[in-house]
Amino acid sequence: MNEKSIDDRFRDSETGKLIDHCLVCKSELVLSGSEYFVERIFRRVPDLEIIEPIFEYAMCKACAENMRNDLSKESLRSIEAYFLNNLQKNEFTASNTDTCLMTGKPIESSAEFSFHAHCLGDKMMESIFPYAISDKAMDEISELLSQETIDQLDDFKGKYFTGPPELADILNPKRFVPL
Ligand SMILES: [Zn+2]
Repeated sequence: MNEKSIDDRFRDSETGKLIDHCLVCKSELVLSGSEYFVERIFRRVPDLEIIEPIFEYAMCKACAENMRNDLSKESLRSIEAYFLNNLQKNEFTASNTDTCLMTGKPIESSAEFSFHAHCLGDKMMESIFPYAISDKAMDEISELLSQETIDQLDDFKGKYFTGPPELADILNPKRFVPL
């Protein structure tokens, strides 16, 4: 598997540094050489022609697995089937953040989107990662989730979102679906 240094797309937008602690368990990730995931969620502000980060975080592998295990089997199966179907259908094997991994929608034309990386210490690994998820895919994924799962994701957002309140309203809790 190829390793690359973690570029600006997956760094803290304010400091330019690596996001080095797990959102959930707070463990250190970079110096310890841990395996973890980075997600950064953005929105496009059309009138201003700017892209604004809504939330960015890292999550260690153990916490990501715990989160998956906490979801209802039904939701998890639906999400996995959606993921596999789209991967096979679209053959988006190249790692990039220009188009949505699931729908092929250009990120340029997405009002809201997220970037995902799979990291080991100070490197990111290339597989289907890094990838981007568009607003279109989020809408499709939302329809697959049980009410129980949506409530769980809402709780998660309430517990861990640390950004400004005006962005809390904008952040779709379904972005926390572990993909
Ligand atoms: Zn953790």
